[in-house]
Amino acid sequence: STLLAGKVAVISGAASPRGIGMATARMFAAHGATVAILDLDERAAAEAAASIGPAHRGYACNVTDRQACYAAAERIVADLGRIDVLINNAGITQPAKLLDIDPESWDRILDVNLRGVLYLSQAVVPQMKKQGKGSIGCMSSVSAQRGGGILGGPHYSAAKAGVLGLAKAMARELGVDGIRVNCVTPGLIQTDINAGKISDDKRGEILAGIPLNRLGVPDDVAGAFLFLASDISSYITGAVIDVNGGMLI
Ligand code: NAD
Repeated sequence: STLLAGKVAVISGAASPRGIGMATARMFAAHGATVAILDLDERAAAEAAASIGPAHRGYACNVTDRQACYAAAERIVADLGRIDVLINNAGITQPAKLLDIDPESWDRILDVNLRGVLYLSQAVVPQMKKQGKGSIGCMSSVSAQRGGGILGGPHYSAAKAGVLGLAKAMARELGVDGIRVNCVTPGLIQTDINAGKISDDKRGEILAGIPLNRLGVPDDVAGAFLFLASDISSYITGAVIDVNGGMLI
């Protein structure tokens, strides 16, 4: 389709071949977008972009590094001319019990999942303001809504809940600039983040709590981001879309 025709979309954490970011990049490209893939490793990001097609670009950008976020935004505008869409997808998780969370793991989980959303948004918003329009999609999680319980610890739940608040604050402030900000809260999606970490017993237990009776796949989440990125959602801001198979019903 031409849903995203002419749009440049920046997606963080999108070099992992089986990840949600890469699935989103592929789906956006299929709908006409030019995609800028950001990830920790420049070569991995460039290869991921090239695997989608020659128009797309990959950039090294650790979202916890404010300078790196601003530098990436600058390079993207120089290379691709504009930024219409940002998907704050980069994230890490760690299973942990409350009493196991030390200051270092708290900082690491909060830095990537929450601080990264702030920095990369700060880096692209000036360009979106210039264009008078933009759409930012932020990756939260069902862990924020139900206090974890699947694979992320309390620090992960706190970070992803922080994303909901930050995104709503951005939506409130940036609406006047034509910039929409929304969140997606996935349930359990099969990617490398949880590969091999779910035993058969655990899997049965999880499926019993999912009305659609299956785990999610990256394209399930990409579809929600596609909707939010495109103009068919042009009156939607500050919203949260659950992509969890009915886990919270
Ligand atoms: P993934 O591990 O496949 O992808 C995460 C990507 O982020 C990787 O490419 C990684 O290199 C990148 N990354 C990590 N730290 C980074 C940093 N500092 N700067 C830039 N990039 C960084 O996992 P995924 O499941 O595709 O996760 C994508 C997002 O979805 C994460 O934010 C995750 O918390 C969230 N999420 C996943 C699930 C799930 O069940 N898989 C559920 C809810 C939310």
